[in-house]
Amino acid sequence: RILGVALVGLGRYSTRQLGPALKETKWCKLTGVVTGSKEKGEQWAKDYGFPAQHIYSYDTMARMADNKDIDIVYVVTPNGLHAEHAIAAAKAGKHVICEKPMANTVEECDQIIAACKAAKVKLSMGYRLHFDPYHKELMRLAKEKDFGAFTSMTGDRGFVMQNKVWRADKKLAGGGPLMDLGIYVIHGACMAANCVAPVVVTAQFLPKTKPDMFTDVEEGISWTMEFANGGACTAKTSYQHSADKFRAEGPKGWIDFKEHAFTYRGMVVETSRGPINYKPPNQQALQMDDFANCILTNRQSVVSGELGRRDLVIIEAIYKAAATGKRVEVKA
Ligand code: NAD
Repeated sequence: RILGVALVGLGRYSTRQLGPALKETKWCKLTGVVTGSKEKGEQWAKDYGFPAQHIYSYDTMARMADNKDIDIVYVVTPNGLHAEHAIAAAKAGKHVICEKPMANTVEECDQIIAACKAAKVKLSMGYRLHFDPYHKELMRLAKEKDFGAFTSMTGDRGFVMQNKVWRADKKLAGGGPLMDLGIYVIHGACMAANCVAPVVVTAQFLPKTKPDMFTDVEEGISWTMEFANGGACTAKTSYQHSADKFRAEGPKGWIDFKEHAFTYRGMVVETSRGPINYKPPNQQALQMDDFANCILTNRQSVVSGELGRRDLVIIEAIYKAAATGKRVEVKA
């Protein structure tokens, strides 16, 4: 059986990545949308070949309960709306995929997890890099310790925001680039640390060069994460510089994501043994197919809600460290 997916929020990520990926998936396909724009919904229905009755608005999500052609609801709205939309989907009896960051706060993550448990539906995160061969190699190296345990990590991710959009609005974004981009470095460092969370973080907000744009969120932040084995990651993220790199070093070698470390095309990766080259897959198609397969075979997703929550625990600790100037313990 091919499962039906409804995308909630038809912005850039849905339009450019998830919709097209759903034309490549084997176990699921697009069968509905939730949007604030009826015209946009009608265009999607035409483009993807589903009936107009499968177009919902954010207020009518409960009606999806009656739609047998929708099995999975994929929440792709601004971060501050993830909890509301994920919970509405669970209450309608649909399995849920939630985009990153899972929600604005750990408390909201708990509410999503509880709603999915209560509705007996599965929950997963849009953590597409778990299905990327380079990041799988990072996880393999971390597990099998070819280079010894990775003890020194560095990461930087940023882009230059030209106009103030929801990503710079605390209510909708939960915070600044740490929520949107820094989360990738956090997640990558935890992969390099063989799937464990850091135990202590320190952090400093970067000075604001555009205080009018970044009124209630940080423009940039640098932070460190210390792991129980003595390893550490130094990281930076910003909405005023471009970067996308990550490096992990162990006593016997290293892996370096030199370019496009956390995106879906143009990754340039080298290890101390030499360059590595994989054919880049469609990460989003693999991620959605894996979740469909989890539902069909009744197994838990590797990109679970708990993993999404863990990253929010780390993010909250980093914000606390930056606000207080103190070392903050992470209770993930
Ligand atoms: P976007 O601004 O392009 O789209 C957001 C959509 O939400 C729009 O269609 C907008 O109309 C809708 N929306 C509903 N209520 C809204 C409100 N009150 N204010 C603003 N917009 C509202 O954003 P995007 O880049 O598509 O990001 C959406 C989500 O996907 C975010 O959580 C983001 O972190 C995540 N994302 C993930 C990846 C990834 O690689 N996994 C990439 C991009 C975005």
